[in-house]
Amino acid sequence: MLCDYHLHTPLCRHADGTVTEYLEAARRKTLLEIGFSDHAPNPDGYDSPHRMTVKEFSLYQDMLRPLLNGSRPAVLFGLEADYYPGCERFLQPFLQQHPFDYILGSVHYLEHWGFDNPEERHVWDSVDVTQTWRTYFTLMGRLAESRLFDIVGHLDLPKKFGHRPPEAKIRDMAQPALDKVAAAGMCIEINTSGLRKPVGEIYPSVLLLKLAREREIPITFGSDAHRPAEVGYAFDQALRLARKAGYTRTARYSRRQKTLEPLPE
Ligand code: ZN
Ligand code: FE
Ligand code: FE
Ligand code: ZN
Repeated sequence: MLCDYHLHTPLCRHADGTVTEYLEAARRKTLLEIGFSDHAPNPDGYDSPHRMTVKEFSLYQDMLRPLLNGSRPAVLFGLEADYYPGCERFLQPFLQQHPFDYILGSVHYLEHWGFDNPEERHVWDSVDVTQTWRTYFTLMGRLAESRLFDIVGHLDLPKKFGHRPPEAKIRDMAQPALDKVAAAGMCIEINTSGLRKPVGEIYPSVLLLKLAREREIPITFGSDAHRPAEVGYAFDQALRLARKAGYTRTARYSRRQKTLEPLPE
């Protein structure tokens, strides 16, 4: 009985299925709770074709409202918002205005390069991989310091297409960022979507998860489903990874407050 806190909706224009179909899939998989965390609207023009507009946000609320009271499994009102320098201008007031249960904070952009976007994958051929990861983790530290978010989305996303520095270097660059995540009282998610990507691995690696565990950073679970069949995807594997890293508890959210519960058997 785990919770899946990373579900998208068709409002982002690259996901399929109705929210009711996601809920039914979660029921079949006997999940305890699910949370929708669709891509936040973005007035600064980051990846506009793949997210709801600011105006459409009310449609997102309307879509979820009927599910927020008494559905089984329970449904939470979340959002996946991008961190980049300057995102505060819009997000700070916006996140205050709505009764979110949790906010996933993700870094998908280095400057204006959407480094995990398949259409921009070729850029990886002309950059220094180690330096790119270092820049990514610097932004991750700033994400934590912004205090805008509750949960770090896919902590080691730059590995998506298989580009990654040696482990010793990842450890060095990730530790300062994880110190900041811990200081912010944030969680990180175990995100199974990496299994469906070229890298073929859960985000984050067991190395990073152990570093998070050492800092007592709690975890949530997310499939990053963009279709109902992906709800709860490979959660048995995610649970094994959590235990392997030494975790015994998982976090749940409500109105941006977290509580810790034992991991299921
Ligand atoms: Zn998406
Ligand atoms: Fe993401
Ligand atoms: Fe996502
Ligand atoms: Zn995501």
